[in-house]
Amino acid sequence: MPSFLECRDVGYTYHSLNGETNALEHISFTVDEGEFVAIVGPSGCGKTTMLSLLCGQLTESTGEILFRGKPLREHIDFHIGYMPQQDQLFEWRNIYGNVTLGLEIQKKLTEENQSYARKLMEEYGLWEFRHVRPSQLSGGMRQRAALIRTLVLRPSLLLLDEPFSALDYQTRLSVADDIYQIIKKEHKTAILVTHDLSEAVSMADRVVILSKRPATVLKEVETTFEMEQRTPMKARNMAGFKEYFNEIWEVLQCQ
Ligand code: ADP
Repeated sequence: MPSFLECRDVGYTYHSLNGETNALEHISFTVDEGEFVAIVGPSGCGKTTMLSLLCGQLTESTGEILFRGKPLREHIDFHIGYMPQQDQLFEWRNIYGNVTLGLEIQKKLTEENQSYARKLMEEYGLWEFRHVRPSQLSGGMRQRAALIRTLVLRPSLLLLDEPFSALDYQTRLSVADDIYQIIKKEHKTAILVTHDLSEAVSMADRVVILSKRPATVLKEVETTFEMEQRTPMKARNMAGFKEYFNEIWEVLQCQ
């Protein structure tokens, strides 16, 4: 059976007036349905380029990206949910208006989708805040609203691009816990790009380590913790956490 998502020998080269920049080379990895994969690597190695390829903003120069065995762009039912570094909620809309903005833009504000938005907002404690403006919510609640805005569009794959980097450290830990639990409860498949190794180990089922530019996959590390219900916060206190962190750290240092 084909993988849910597969990057097969993917390469990408930027062409500009100043010449060529080879950003990615021979990138191969797979993502299973429901899996949470983190991509880590040094700054400038090509992580954002990788996300842009998965979003379809860029087209791979070599290789191919397959969804259930078929090239991404041949799927009309493949939808990406993107969570950026800033929550990008609009102050001139209330929380309900923000959550349903994507549905409105895509002309999918059907009764069924509106009741799905309501269900998610109720389930994750946002319904009572539906009439308030984003500035009246805490950083954590704003991130939750941003995630639900993405989930109402029923994405096949969630891309998280350093989604907690604008938050202070303490908030970041609890928001990561919160977002992780929503993603798992909704059985979503997610790819997280981060430079924070602790964040990657605590949240991901598997960490893909990229080399310096042009990025190739140096190693994949599966992170399993023996606990009944995993949460990123609990994972940080587990025995294996430090070992996984050190393993990834060493791979990054040895290139
Ligand atoms: P990361 O997200 O890991 O920091 P990027 O994917 O942003 O890395 O960039 C990878 C490399 O490609 C960098 O060397 C960057 O300078 C280069 N790059 C990114 N965007 C462009 C562009 N539009 N034109 C030329 N080079 C680019």
